[in-house]
Amino acid sequence: MNFNIRQAPNGVWYGSFPEFDRLGVRHGFATRLGGASEGPYKSLNLVFRARDEVENVIGNRRKFCEAVGVDLTRAVGGHQVHGDRVGVVAPGDAGKGAASSDGLEGTDALITNVPGVPLMIFFADCVPLLLVDPVRKAVGACHAGWRGTVARIGAKTVQAMERHFGTRPQDCRIALGPSIGPCCYEVDDSVMNRFREAFDWWEAAAVRRGEKWLLNLWEANRRQLIDAGVPAGNIAMSDACTACNTPLFFSYRAENGDTGNLAAVISLQEGC
Ligand SMILES: [Zn+2]
Repeated sequence: MNFNIRQAPNGVWYGSFPEFDRLGVRHGFATRLGGASEGPYKSLNLVFRARDEVENVIGNRRKFCEAVGVDLTRAVGGHQVHGDRVGVVAPGDAGKGAASSDGLEGTDALITNVPGVPLMIFFADCVPLLLVDPVRKAVGACHAGWRGTVARIGAKTVQAMERHFGTRPQDCRIALGPSIGPCCYEVDDSVMNRFREAFDWWEAAAVRRGEKWLLNLWEANRRQLIDAGVPAGNIAMSDACTACNTPLFFSYRAENGDTGNLAAVISLQEGC
């Protein structure tokens, strides 16, 4: 599957996998281009920060959702804590966290089978995953930094869709969006040891560099999804590194924490 970045008529640049759009969903991964924020948040910052204007962030979210073709006023966000809780989004949740930071409490993954309720997750190096079950008609979104990856949040999101919607892992299509790549994600032994304990294939996702390691979060997520029963051919990777491309993306690591946040959004289309 090809990852395409393009400019919407409203000026926002965002990436998507065209094959996903044929599955009855709308989705997109934001870049940092096309928004109103200034300074380190220039310009499409999508998370409320002390030194960015609230109106900028809300306006940026509205523009991003408009570019993708989803309704911000019905969107649901998670209040992300690098945990492994999966929130099940019901019709009554529509709009929670859309224009504020109070989304579903302590939730790094969201799933729903309600059409027209977009799921939104935020990141700036962590891996964003968007999930589609075109058979049972359900979608999911999750945020996997190293902690979430070790906690298997990607696999747990698939399992939650299985439990709540009858999703079969072999039907799932999953896209991994722009995030810090194996070229740039240096970690120390304490992080690497967690991966070593969690995954017997950990060496496939790590390379020694001096005293440190280069950790491949893309591969660690890909392999845990395969372990969960998702066919390798159903997993699409953007292969875009946020830290290598700061003109295009926000990167927490490359910009020393003083930066904005990207978002990914996915919604089942109504009438599909
Ligand atoms: Zn890189």
